[in-house]
Amino acid sequence: MFENMDNKDLDSYADQIIAGSQLSDDDIRSLLETESPEIIDKLHYVARRIRDHFFGNKVFMYSFVYFSTYCKNKCAFCYYRNSNDIERYRLSNEDIRQICKVIKTEDVHMVDLTMGEDPYFHDKPERLAEVVKIVKEEVGKPIMVSPGVVDENTLKMLKDNGANFLALYQETYDMELYKQLRVDQSFEGRINSRNHAKQMGYSVEDGMLTEVEPDMESTIISLRGLATSNPDMVRVMTFLPQQGTPLEGKEIRDCASELKIISILRLLYPEKLIPASLDLEGIDGMVHRLNAGANVVTSIISSNSSLEGVVNYDREHAERDRDVKSVVARLKTMGMEPAEQSEFEKLLGR
Ligand code: SF4
Repeated sequence: MFENMDNKDLDSYADQIIAGSQLSDDDIRSLLETESPEIIDKLHYVARRIRDHFFGNKVFMYSFVYFSTYCKNKCAFCYYRNSNDIERYRLSNEDIRQICKVIKTEDVHMVDLTMGEDPYFHDKPERLAEVVKIVKEEVGKPIMVSPGVVDENTLKMLKDNGANFLALYQETYDMELYKQLRVDQSFEGRINSRNHAKQMGYSVEDGMLTEVEPDMESTIISLRGLATSNPDMVRVMTFLPQQGTPLEGKEIRDCASELKIISILRLLYPEKLIPASLDLEGIDGMVHRLNAGANVVTSIISSNSSLEGVVNYDREHAERDRDVKSVVARLKTMGMEPAEQSEFEKLLGR
């Protein structure tokens, strides 16, 4: 694909995707397997053209609050799996209120409230609803909740207290790989929870992990599987080996395949929100991900925050410049800028 295309051909290819043309599995295969920098550049170019058609140069920004690192699960890839002997924290409501007072002064479109499947909240969902209520009262902006798998009553309670978006990542739609990654967790139960949220009027996010797949076909299954819940946002993240987990010793390459997959996601899901996370490679990584076709900056943390990221990655490097001001300044150098709040709220209502 793209070998003999010049810019005019690439523009016309982007127009076809915008008009509804679909990638075949063979197209995806050829993009996944290419190592050619020239073809990868062309792929990123097409992805940016499509993104710019739907979103212009506007970027959405989500603030990130990891409020409990306790978890009852044992996902094989995760630093916070229950058996890992690490220091954990659970923020008090007062801590959360104080963080919100800072977030309120920052130019973000949504607050992402993330936790492990902490029994303290899962056994008493009204505690979780209280957290959502506090954030709504203090910040007054849309709220994304990432609580893991929760039942319909909990979803309803969270929604009634101000939650708008549910992030719940399948990580893979390859059943065999799912069993290895999300150890002892129901594949269907996860999908059902996301579907219930969608039916209830939440916007939803699904995501896949890369650099863990046994082969390219597994990646394609996940790329296609991400359509399952008709999510509003689709994410790919690179697996990074975490100390104290079963996958600690697994060798990985770099984030190159994540960048390629971001562009493929843009071609497969042209109008969806696609994040450029600061979590893996900080602000330089954000630039690469936006250049690959992403349109949302996630994992923004307040400059005075000492909270955890999703992955335990080279913290000194990755947590530098993860505040809103640094992000906006860097966006400007790319000819991009934050969208208006009203543009984001319009998307939530669609
Ligand atoms: S990925 Fe989430 S559910 Fe799984 S162990 Fe980590 S925090 Fe828990």
